[in-house]
Amino acid sequence: MRAFRTVVPRPPALQGGRRTGVAWSNEPGRGQWEHSTRPTVRGDTVELDPERYDAVVFDLDGVVTDTASVHRAAWRRLFAGELGMPFTDEDYRRYVDGRPRYDGAAAFLASRGLTMPPDRVRELADRKDEYFTELLRRDGTTAFPGTVALLDQLAAAGVAFGLISASRHCAEVLAAAGLTGRFGAVVDGLTAAELGLPGKPDPAVFLLAAHRLGAQPRRTVVVEDALAGVEAGRAGGFGLVIGVDRTGQGAELAAHGADVVVADLSEVTVRKVAPA
Ligand SMILES: [Mg+2]
Repeated sequence: MRAFRTVVPRPPALQGGRRTGVAWSNEPGRGQWEHSTRPTVRGDTVELDPERYDAVVFDLDGVVTDTASVHRAAWRRLFAGELGMPFTDEDYRRYVDGRPRYDGAAAFLASRGLTMPPDRVRELADRKDEYFTELLRRDGTTAFPGTVALLDQLAAAGVAFGLISASRHCAEVLAAAGLTGRFGAVVDGLTAAELGLPGKPDPAVFLLAAHRLGAQPRRTVVVEDALAGVEAGRAGGFGLVIGVDRTGQGAELAAHGADVVVADLSEVTVRKVAPA
């Protein structure tokens, strides 16, 4: 297992401050180090304290299920295979990952200096969606064991957990991974479309999930693998943003808003609290 890295640079010690409990305040007009509810770092794991956090909101693709790779393959088939535009892993991370598909398609095209009429962008994004569905149905998907183990620990500790996804295929992916009904709240691409919520990097979907779990953002942990996702976590004022780095973009996740970065959620544990 790769060692856990503290990616938040340590600020000067505060008077009476804890050595392990500092964070950058993202409240408007603040911008200074303050005491907060960051996790205690022990060895190479992140330990979540159930007395500090009431809820955890997980991103789906790439955090809970191995579907980020399916999305990437579908985008590549569209852009590289069909349009002859090279589409690298870097393009996926930077322009597309975590975003609603129309936003992602438009952002990638713009990066190549292309603007297309909205109808054309929609048509392309919808084609990618068909490819995704085809690949998902053909290959299925699985949940990451480290994530499932963390869900079990959270449940045992009485910490609520919810799920967000930009995807409209959330229910189908959850079913394929055997996780239907496991999350206390699910806010997916369908919910966002119904309610007119903006996609990541806007924090709206995370805020709604926390609200539905009955938790304040500052007492909620966000777990994300996309740059747009950790940005949303920071923008939403969440208590902790955990970046999951499965593709070697840890430093970028940190730069975009992750407080800590792990390679897999097996590196995150929940502190056991003695029953009252
Ligand atoms: Mg993701």
